[in-house]
Amino acid sequence: MTACPCDSSRRYAQCCGPLHGGTPAPSAEALMRSRYSAYARGDAAYVLETWHASTRPATLALDARTRWLGLDVRRHEVSDADAAQVEFVARYRDGGAPAVRLHELSRFVREDGRWWYVDGDFPSAHTDRQGKGAG
Ligand SMILES: [Zn+2]
Repeated sequence: MTACPCDSSRRYAQCCGPLHGGTPAPSAEALMRSRYSAYARGDAAYVLETWHASTRPATLALDARTRWLGLDVRRHEVSDADAAQVEFVARYRDGGAPAVRLHELSRFVREDGRWWYVDGDFPSAHTDRQGKGAG
């Protein structure tokens, strides 16, 4: 069994795998988890595909030295049927550097029946690498 990067107690094939294969995320939290897993697997295409067109960067280069260490979803707040926020802490390490704690409050919207990552706030500035946008 291959553990899913977003939650080591679940199999990738029964967690984020189907979403990476094209199944729409059933919730903003599921999309957030699948985006984290895409970062962890080096799948930049999926990260871009799930980014809302209004905020999506033209390109995304993932650093192969980055190791994603774990994800802790703190809060999933549905504002209305088509908007939600997910607060999480992700940890990663670049090469031999000390582990970094990325605390993000991500915003998601649902359009055309799919959830999209819009952008995020960083409630505590534990990192200067805010551009990763792991939401
Ligand atoms: Zn997962």
